Amino acid sequence: MNTFERSWSPAGWRNFEARQLPAYSDAAALAAVEGELSSYPPLVFAGEARALEAQLADVAAGKAFLLQGGDCAESFAEFHPNHIRDTFRVLLQMAVVLTFASRMPVVKVGRLAGQFAKPRSADMEDLNGVSLPSYRGDIVNGIEFDSAAREPDPKRMLRAYMQSAATLNLLRAFAQGGFANLHQVHKWNLDFVGHSPWAEKYKDVADRIGDALAFMEACGISPETVPQLKGTDFYTSHEALLLGYEQAMTRQDSLTGRWYDTSAHMLWVGDRTRFEGSAHIEFLRGVGNPLGLKAGPSLQPDMLIRLIDTLNPENVPGRITVISRFGHDKVQDGLPPLIRAVKREGRHVVWSCDPMHGNTIKAGSGYKTRPFDRILAEVRGFFAVHRAEGTHAGGIHAEMTGQNVTECTGGAMAITDEALADRYHTHCDPRLNAGQSLELAFLLAECIKT
Ligand code: PEP
Ligand code: MN
Repeated sequence: MNTFERSWSPAGWRNFEARQLPAYSDAAALAAVEGELSSYPPLVFAGEARALEAQLADVAAGKAFLLQGGDCAESFAEFHPNHIRDTFRVLLQMAVVLTFASRMPVVKVGRLAGQFAKPRSADMEDLNGVSLPSYRGDIVNGIEFDSAAREPDPKRMLRAYMQSAATLNLLRAFAQGGFANLHQVHKWNLDFVGHSPWAEKYKDVADRIGDALAFMEACGISPETVPQLKGTDFYTSHEALLLGYEQAMTRQDSLTGRWYDTSAHMLWVGDRTRFEGSAHIEFLRGVGNPLGLKAGPSLQPDMLIRLIDTLNPENVPGRITVISRFGHDKVQDGLPPLIRAVKREGRHVVWSCDPMHGNTIKAGSGYKTRPFDRILAEVRGFFAVHRAEGTHAGGIHAEMTGQNVTECTGGAMAITDEALADRYHTHCDPRLNAGQSLELAFLLAECIKT
């Protein structure tokens, strides 16, 4: 049937092939939780999702840049205001560096306030002869390797909702309540002193911004007269993986009558669940939120076009962000065919680069890690491809944290394989630490300028 004509309902995905969903043993308990969630307040409003889509349309048009980042997986254990503040602060610093370099607005989107559910390469995990269900994120089961923890528990969805609500509340306060005032641009750096050589470089940018602000103030332009100096727009996003949760959070907008998934402003579909005919694509095509589409080496150009047409039949700019994640050695060959197909078909998309997921390796020490130079190499490759194709390298999608973790090797602080054990805290994939994130921002600034 033609996708333009097929009707859609929030529960319609249940008739499609759904991969990566947990096997709950108690269907009645699951239904009770989903029913309860569907009566809870929305976390975001449809109007906010539309505002983000409009800003992403500017990115698609080459007039802005997208910065999307945060944990691979948020966890109940790491839920703390300081963690939220630190990740938010590094994102602000990265945005300042990027805005300064590109002279373009930077659209800020956190992988935050709802990024709990994880796709896994295997359903079961084996350890010392014992086989248990894989950890699928705190919204599904516990990370501890024991059978009680690994049993999927629907009640975890309620806790994830509460944590998302509290996180979002704090983020809204940080974004609009004074913390993000551009006059704080120096203060955001304080914790870096002694941590990263890039703190000095950041200080130079901050000094120049401070001078510009002082000049503007002398001319009568201040945070009191210009709201953009006082606070910032900040949006949330996560992988729309756990469809029962996403369905329960989906509401009809009273203004437009359109359905929105109110669990986050932007949702993306992962590389493992974006196959044609998947339940995840079916769900996402019906919600009005801006959507991300992860694109790895297995995505063929004609399939990308069909997916775009299913998700965005009216070709609305800003609705689709293609997040490529090829790996440092595959991006130069893999990305051009996708770009050419999209150009040829005249589809409007944001092109964003996830330099994390194609560059994961197992270190000699046994930890899952990502060498920082491979991450940078994929970013450089992404920009080189777009330069050659004449398209806008529009964004970055990073797994990062404001904490001083040791999860990705390399960077200016030269984290070694042996040092990974020092502060390896992630609940899933390895993240850039605060210093590495800032270093990435300066590399991006170089790429944007040339
Ligand atoms: C992720 O973003 O954490 C993820 C699982 O990515 P991908 O779908 O690209 O593998
Ligand atoms: Mn990940």
